Amino acid sequence: MAKTVRRPLVSGNWKMHLTHLEAINIIQKLSYSLDASDPSYVDISVHPAFTALRSVQTVLEADDIRISLGAQNVHWETSGAYTGEISPTMLAKLNVSYVIVGHSERRQLFGETDEMVAKKVKAVFSAGMTPIMCVGETLDEREAGDTETRVLSQLAAGLAGLNPEQVARMVVAYEPIWAIGTGRNATPEDAQSVSQAIRGSILADHGEVAGHGVRVQYGGSVKAANAAQLMAQPDIDGALVGGASLDPGEFAQIIGFARP
Ligand code: PEP
Repeated sequence: MAKTVRRPLVSGNWKMHLTHLEAINIIQKLSYSLDASDPSYVDISVHPAFTALRSVQTVLEADDIRISLGAQNVHWETSGAYTGEISPTMLAKLNVSYVIVGHSERRQLFGETDEMVAKKVKAVFSAGMTPIMCVGETLDEREAGDTETRVLSQLAAGLAGLNPEQVARMVVAYEPIWAIGTGRNATPEDAQSVSQAIRGSILADHGEVAGHGVRVQYGGSVKAANAAQLMAQPDIDGALVGGASLDPGEFAQIIGFARP
């Protein structure tokens, strides 16, 4: 089979930061910073809080900025009595392209299970958007030698019931939990080894098209200082960036390090 060229995807997870006014300011600054380098071979997404989605969408569309809009979470139902939740249809109407699903903060702090993650992945596809599904091990699991078992079981549960074309289109973010927001990150070799295991498992369970097409991001304290080595690994197709994505200059630098 011919080598598949995957476009890297660099995503900024703004978490529960930035009011809609602050988000407008950051997206404008990011757009100016990117103008200088214009990395046209990289896909970029930003994931504001729900309250800033509409404002960021308006700026991106009005100024024709080449950044996709993303969300940080979603419910799996289309509508209904689910107070406080946001449906895939609501996000799709705002031209959201990517939705983060199963972030470790959702799993650990809000009780999101593998089953809920799988329902969300399917719902995101049904609404015509692309899921970025997060998987990753705790420090205890890593120290016990259980990293691959944990990550591959989250992966298998989240991809259950998808067809190979859907798996090929989705994004899996490998995020060791001990590296998120801590300033510690996996070595490029460790990140590559787990990313390779993720791709190998998808090749085995969902076939060649899915295994070679799926994009695997690394996430966990990605900064301008370490992004190049991480994203240069053969099975890593970009990054999911939390803290450093709040600084438009640094986030633009990270984007500049991504290569197909
Ligand atoms: C994240 O939010 O997914 C993340 C990896 O955060 P940070 O880059 O701050 O570790």
